[in-house]
Amino acid sequence: MALIVQKFGGTSVGTVERIEQVAEKVKKFREGGDDIVVVVSAMSGETNRLIDLAKQISEQPVPRELDVMVSTGEQVTIALLAMALIKRGVPAVSYTGNQVRILTDSAHNKARILQIDDQKIRADLKAGRVVVVAGFQGVDEHGNITTLGRGGSDTTGVALAAALKAEECQIYTDVDGVYTTDPRVVPQAQRLDKITFEEMLEMASLGSKVLQIRSVEFAGKYNVPLRVLHSFQEGPGTLITLDEEESMEQPIISGIAFNRDEAKLTIRGVPDIPGVAFKILGPISAANIEVDMIVQNVAHDNTTDFTFTVHRNDYQNALRVLEQTAREIGAREVIGDTKIAKVSIVGVGMRSHAGVASRMFEALAKETINIQMISTSEIKVSVVIEEKYLELAVRALHTAFELDAPTRQGE
Ligand code: ASP
Ligand code: MG
Repeated sequence: MALIVQKFGGTSVGTVERIEQVAEKVKKFREGGDDIVVVVSAMSGETNRLIDLAKQISEQPVPRELDVMVSTGEQVTIALLAMALIKRGVPAVSYTGNQVRILTDSAHNKARILQIDDQKIRADLKAGRVVVVAGFQGVDEHGNITTLGRGGSDTTGVALAAALKAEECQIYTDVDGVYTTDPRVVPQAQRLDKITFEEMLEMASLGSKVLQIRSVEFAGKYNVPLRVLHSFQEGPGTLITLDEEESMEQPIISGIAFNRDEAKLTIRGVPDIPGVAFKILGPISAANIEVDMIVQNVAHDNTTDFTFTVHRNDYQNALRVLEQTAREIGAREVIGDTKIAKVSIVGVGMRSHAGVASRMFEALAKETINIQMISTSEIKVSVVIEEKYLELAVRALHTAFELDAPTRQGE
């Protein structure tokens, strides 16, 4: 008999009918003999509705009070699901974050979990009950309600699985797993049976939105096997784990991620002297702007060009700061571009294979797509290209790295 944590997202509990369906599903698992802890999100749209309400009172609601309010979304779903289970003859009990005691720090709206008391849950499981816990919320040491940031129920699920040493944390959602890339862009994208925490983390931070990034970090840190599954379709889903199998068939690249969220800034004709990179990026970080990719060119005529990317929302702000810097250090000019996109190939297989980057560049060259910037890590190569070529680039790379699903006969 195993202990499994099952997390159901907002769309999976979006209506009373769906909550009844979730109850049926949980009941089946329970009848299979496993101990089940369920974590639920608010009904889909509910958290947004609550935030909108708060904003009608104040553009910047007091963070503590906002938490008191948005945490109610999950409180409704835990009660409804527990009722639906009890109606089916499945003993169940619901708990808020405060009642379990999911202890967090006091950073309202983005709190971090410090400790979870597992006593009460274990006692309930022992008594044969399904335990239904509110996702996204906790309590600080002073008894204030806190929330974990948008999408935080995933993290609640993983944290509970870690605390209870569960066999697996199953994340039920509206997709049937993690894909090689976004199927809306590449119809031949395939569901991955397995992916490592590291790869998933890269995919998530690069724009694949299946899981909250923090939940993947947490799962990796505590080695909690995570499985992404469709709430209402049968299937094995995608298992996210630590192990990297060295198998011959394993593709070198696991997935292709992309985003359109960045903008590029270049400061040209910068005097090539020590301390210049700091002079350029110091004021940017002082303005609380996060920098992603950075490229500095080799100097000629004693000056250099320096390019970096920021989130598109920060572009105007960054441009203003950089223009000021340019005047101060006597740089020639500042230019910017918001019509860029970042495409990345991700895979632990890169560690043991040479020529991955050149294969990527070759595929882009064949489509006459110009590469503006490049950055690499141990398991990732990212390029910045013109935004209008994004979909073409993703498709070309998906094919070049043999990720396309085999077309069946007659298709
Ligand atoms: N209800 C919260 C949100 O919408 C938490 C979650 O769904 O994971 O962000
Ligand atoms: Mg969610």
